[in-house]
Amino acid sequence: MRKISRRTLLSVSSGLVGAAAAASALPREAASNKDLPAAPSAADDLPEVHRKKKLKVVFVGAHTDDWTVCGGTLARYTALGHEVLIISFTPGDSVSMADVYHMTLEDLAAARRDQAVKGAEMIGARIIFLKEKDLWMRVDPTSYQEFNKLLMPEKPDVVLTMWLMEFHPDHRAAGNLAYNAWLQSGMNFGLYFCETPGGTEMQPQQFIPTHYVDVESVKNLRRESFLANALIKDEWPESELWANFRGMEYGCKSAEAFVRVHTVATMPERNLYPNWWYWGGLRLAGE
Ligand SMILES: [Zn+2]
Repeated sequence: MRKISRRTLLSVSSGLVGAAAAASALPREAASNKDLPAAPSAADDLPEVHRKKKLKVVFVGAHTDDWTVCGGTLARYTALGHEVLIISFTPGDSVSMADVYHMTLEDLAAARRDQAVKGAEMIGARIIFLKEKDLWMRVDPTSYQEFNKLLMPEKPDVVLTMWLMEFHPDHRAAGNLAYNAWLQSGMNFGLYFCETPGGTEMQPQQFIPTHYVDVESVKNLRRESFLANALIKDEWPESELWANFRGMEYGCKSAEAFVRVHTVATMPERNLYPNWWYWGGLRLAGE
């Protein structure tokens, strides 16, 4: 074994210091370049909080309880004084759940809405329900325009939505509509995809997180607001397990994970809402 002298150690450590200094200079240089976009938030920050303003955060989900996939993150936003709006495309009309609970579709939907409102109130968020039909959500030019009309006046800073590759067609549709709205806004809000907890029928595929939010500080609120949606209470253990897994992966006790969509491109004017003509794709930054 090679004997390591004090001199060797010193030369190794000074080399590391030199490398670290060179690496730390890089972000500063990049930040001074006006042609580059604003630096992304630090990994343990809430998305877009580096903008130092009161944020409008919108969650775009298909079902009354979908927002529980990122309930901890939403609770952290409201705790800091940011505004959170939750959108559910459908009003709670799940035929399969009505069958399981032996309820009429109307009674089930009303109960799910009541529970979702209660849970959202716990985390200081507002929730609205649209009138799409469960399992029949549409993705077509008309639905794109209808959703643009609803979302654009909200002027969101951050939109959190459902992952595009998972089992439930309504989840995929909600994510798709949010993604389209992001494009037609000129990509002027932060778009983050959420994951449904893995392990059962909603299993997301190829979800490789780019961003984590530590939700340990709102652990109890996360749990209580989830369980307010009493008709999905049996799914809580999975949600908790998944947050613990993401926490271990990230290096804290519990976390929620996201995929951030990022580009420095621009959208041609004619493709922006309220236009609906889809022309020519994105433009390289500076074009
Ligand atoms: Zn759902």
